[in-house]
Amino acid sequence: RYQSLAYDRVLEIHKQHLSPILMPYFSEPLLLHQGHMEWLFDYEGKRYLDFFSGIVTVSVGHCHPKVNAVAQKQLGRLWHTSAFFVHPPIHEYAEKLSALLPEPLKVIFFVNSGSEANDLAMLMARAHSNNTDIISFRGAYHGCSPYTLGLSNIMSFKTKLPSGLGCQSTMCPDVFHGPWGGSHCRDSPVQTIRKCSCAPDCCQAKDQYIEQFKDTLNTSVAKSIAGFFAEPIQGVNGFVQYPKGFLKEAFELVRERGGVCIADEVQTGFGRLGSHFWGFQTHGVLPDIVTMAKGIANGFPMAAVVTTPDVAKSLAKCLLHFSTFGGNPMACAIGSAVLEVIKEENLQENSQEVGTYMLLKFAKLRDEFEIVGDVRGKGLMVGIELVKDKMSRQPLPREEVNQIHQDCKHMGLIIGRGGIFSQTFRIAPPMCVTKSEVDFATEVLRSALIQHTERRAK
Ligand code: PMP
Repeated sequence: RYQSLAYDRVLEIHKQHLSPILMPYFSEPLLLHQGHMEWLFDYEGKRYLDFFSGIVTVSVGHCHPKVNAVAQKQLGRLWHTSAFFVHPPIHEYAEKLSALLPEPLKVIFFVNSGSEANDLAMLMARAHSNNTDIISFRGAYHGCSPYTLGLSNIMSFKTKLPSGLGCQSTMCPDVFHGPWGGSHCRDSPVQTIRKCSCAPDCCQAKDQYIEQFKDTLNTSVAKSIAGFFAEPIQGVNGFVQYPKGFLKEAFELVRERGGVCIADEVQTGFGRLGSHFWGFQTHGVLPDIVTMAKGIANGFPMAAVVTTPDVAKSLAKCLLHFSTFGGNPMACAIGSAVLEVIKEENLQENSQEVGTYMLLKFAKLRDEFEIVGDVRGKGLMVGIELVKDKMSRQPLPREEVNQIHQDCKHMGLIIGRGGIFSQTFRIAPPMCVTKSEVDFATEVLRSALIQHTERRAK
């Protein structure tokens, strides 16, 4: 009885006192009690396999014992200092993090969220280039601050409230929805079991998208630009991938016009993509600025911008950058523990192995169900896009996706949503996930899709 009262009361308070903008998932929202590694438990003790990690954030597992122990130790030692003092856990962490980035990306600015990191990266790009215009992809999400709203080109983040002066969007080279398809699937393990969805001339797709990119550069921005932001795989837009080789050429074009290139690794960093520690490495590019948040501290508020000494100097000439909480002792101690756990438990390798296994298992669902339009991704970042039918690729109506989503929850599987019409399931478990858990998730998805097929047939 107490539990159900608590549940109603929580929902009432949510309605009365919390932001009315975002409502919880599901008609009966999940009342969470606790988490352990890849599992979540509700107040009635029911367990759920967490395949969304609090929006791609819980990198090494909920309440990971080592991370918890380090946090507790630091809690008893020193919570807070400020940028005017030095405290070794901060410096130890800075050294560890910078060692994971290639030369010359060695200077770190700590902040508290992905939006703040991208705000700072925008300032850096402008300070360094002495230019104004910044380009990002349509479908991108880079944050919700007044500055980064200009870079976020998705759903209701485009508003009539003025934001993002000097920001321009360009076509996303989306290999599933873009007019020329794409060639990423040539290298993808999914290719072995699914028919290539690209046009016959898909090898040329990259060039067509590059022509579009040039068109933006030639017509929509000033001759010289400040920078170009790209996520290695688009997150909020439903794990959208670009054709092989696109980012490399785009980076060259941006640099020819005096701009700097920024990789937003908020979702893709820290080994999640398996083959590489950073998403930009999977594209064979070297950015001038890398922004990171979410998985950096397994869910503890923390973010960072890493750049070159030259870019850092340009910023220093323009501005006193300051953050009260950025790089606080707690965040740095936790960040250090996360890096250690990724290494000690071979979590990048696990992302590669279990992620590839998951992609192949989910790809079979694409062959089995007409409404599974695309299965894509890399490592432990896999998108399942639901469509009315394979031919049209129109989004499956929202109520139908809601029902499948809810059925998965009832069967104990938590997954996320993404895409303009919320039509894509975003699947990104903590990196400690196992193959048998992937088997369970596949069977839950299959069952929910069968139920959908049966409902349709009635
Ligand atoms: N960049 C990307 C790629 C993101 O996914 C997000 C958050 N969804 C952000 C930036 C903004 O991060 P935050 O919510 O921590 O401000």
